[in-house]
Amino acid sequence: MCNPSFITKVIKIDPENINNQDLREAVIILQNEGIVAFPTETVYGLGASAFSEKAIKKIFRAKGRPLDNPLIVHIDSMEMLESIVLEVPKNVRSLCEEFWPGPLTILFQKNSKIPDCVTAGLPTVAIRMPSNLIAQRLIHLSGLPLAAPSANISGKPSPTSPSHVKDDFDGKIPLIIDGGQCQVGVESTVINVNSIPPLILRPGGLDYEELRKFILDLKIYDKHYKNKDLEKHPSTPGLKYRHYSPTARVILIEQNQQNMQSIIFEILNSFTQNMNEIGYIHTNPEIVLEALYLEKLGDNLIDLTKKTLKTIVIQKEIYANVAHKIFWALRMLDSKKVKYIIVEGISEQYSGLAVMNRLRKAAWKIIKK
Ligand code: AMP
Ligand code: MG
Repeated sequence: MCNPSFITKVIKIDPENINNQDLREAVIILQNEGIVAFPTETVYGLGASAFSEKAIKKIFRAKGRPLDNPLIVHIDSMEMLESIVLEVPKNVRSLCEEFWPGPLTILFQKNSKIPDCVTAGLPTVAIRMPSNLIAQRLIHLSGLPLAAPSANISGKPSPTSPSHVKDDFDGKIPLIIDGGQCQVGVESTVINVNSIPPLILRPGGLDYEELRKFILDLKIYDKHYKNKDLEKHPSTPGLKYRHYSPTARVILIEQNQQNMQSIIFEILNSFTQNMNEIGYIHTNPEIVLEALYLEKLGDNLIDLTKKTLKTIVIQKEIYANVAHKIFWALRMLDSKKVKYIIVEGISEQYSGLAVMNRLRKAAWKIIKK
């Protein structure tokens, strides 16, 4: 059966001045088991009622998402949380108070209102309360928790602007809510507080450094801790599925090697015949590109470094800036039809952890020492 086709409508909404009437059409679609793309502070989401199996199936179908990859449910209040989970443990409640609304997703035991297709058959459901005001209002007006993965075709870089959503879903979904650029730019941090040890299952918009102040024994899955049984299931951030990849082949140069600069020049030299096939993402303020390469790369060079001071606060900002723009940069270079995208790796501090997690999964080749 072929997919239904739509004239995809885009409704622009100012997050500072939301008129409920402008969200009416989106609310009606959601209440009638349809799907709508909407902004969150992390990336754009493709949302549907978390109560409707029919609506959830539409999300999986539109994205081409494997059915065993569970969805995150977005809520607007603690009351809504309590209505869909078995319990909110005390330690988890204090985390919600500290970090919600914001880019933190927490696992809970689901109750029977949440159909199994949302969680890929798992007894746990991943939940977050977004801080984006349009997302909050949409959930509130529809009166529904919204299951929403990122609004991209499965495997592609996540969308951080409404035009990215349109690129992937024009004619395939009825409505995109345009709330401008996403502030964070990478997805939420997913944690399981009740595992031993407590785990970050997926690094994201909320930094490990921040969370560890509240969960002292918190570990990062895959970095500090690994479990083969968990790895078999794609709900953990394993490597089963292709992820975040643009059409161009991404060559990631891992940092932590003293000769990073010469490796970069070696690679660039191997392309000197055809530099217009190359996109380059500069993330590391310590790497200085020679004028020759700057000239040859021209518009295909995207510079995400902020050339400022080196205090802790500013460093954190540098990483946040890379996170904010990394998916945009991959999509931008794809639109220039380059064949390869060379990306400098950055240190896994602050948002650098989430950025490197995404880049390693996006990479066609990873250059290590
Ligand atoms: P995405 O929707 O692409 O942002 O991905 C959401 C991710 O959250 C999944 O790929 C999982 O890694 C994680 N996740 C969602 N639900 C669960 C769950 N019930 N248990 C463990 N991880 C989950
Ligand atoms: Mg996604």
